[in-house]
Amino acid sequence: MYILLMGPPGAGKGTQAEKLIDAYKIPHISTGDMFRAAVSQGTELGKEAKKYMDAGGLVPDVVTIGIVREGLAKPECAKGFILDGFPRTQEQAVALDGILKDLGIKLTGVVNIEVPDKDLVDRVTGRRICKKCGATYHITFNPPKVEGICDKCGGDLYQRDDDKAETVKNRLAAYHSQTEPLISYYKKQGIYINIDGTQPIDKVYSAVKSSLDSRK
Ligand code: ADP
Ligand code: AMP
Repeated sequence: MYILLMGPPGAGKGTQAEKLIDAYKIPHISTGDMFRAAVSQGTELGKEAKKYMDAGGLVPDVVTIGIVREGLAKPECAKGFILDGFPRTQEQAVALDGILKDLGIKLTGVVNIEVPDKDLVDRVTGRRICKKCGATYHITFNPPKVEGICDKCGGDLYQRDDDKAETVKNRLAAYHSQTEPLISYYKKQGIYINIDGTQPIDKVYSAVKSSLDSRK
């Protein structure tokens, strides 16, 4: 299974990826997670990426394509992966085609989780993430059993710096201008799957899983 997860910020990509990695036992490659890890480690990559992330913009293509190329070349990705949050620009999509060609891989499906903007601000501002294991919650739509504590590992939950209402506006604008046009790019390749992301988490998961299973 070679899966791309697309959709605006807050659509539910990470939430669905958590379930899909359990079901398919394949690695999750999230460029957002990679950048956040680099920021928290204080690496040069992290310092560079943080400038763009804090403003709600996109990290430059050359940097982002480089980390994905490295990630996908790892042996654990040979049998499958879930790529989440990449590509986000036309240049990244074209580069990804080249990377996959070099690796002899064909995508199983490009899953686009569709959610209207009016729902996304609440989703993003209410998101909480576990510091320890990275599990995602929502204060209203998917709350942990004990406030502020991860159900899975007992870790503390935190709010991402860029999950503030002011930054979300810029992230949505970047999505509409640079990422949304990729829908037609993948439609043309015949691997596009559209999912109604306004349904509850489990319903979205059933829809994603059954459409991917049918393409295995
Ligand atoms: P993305 O990775 O696309 O940015 P997330 O998976 O982190 O999005 O989800 C954003 C927020 O919305 C999280 O707080 C998550 O718990 C919540 N969420 C995810 N899917 C749904 C859904 N189908 N309905 C309601 N809330 C959801
Ligand atoms: P995410 O976790 O996917 O919401 O990403 C968080 C932030 O990381 C984004 O707002 C961007 O600043 C940056 N980022 C993640 N993926 C990409 C990408 N493919 N291209 C450019 N920037 C990215």
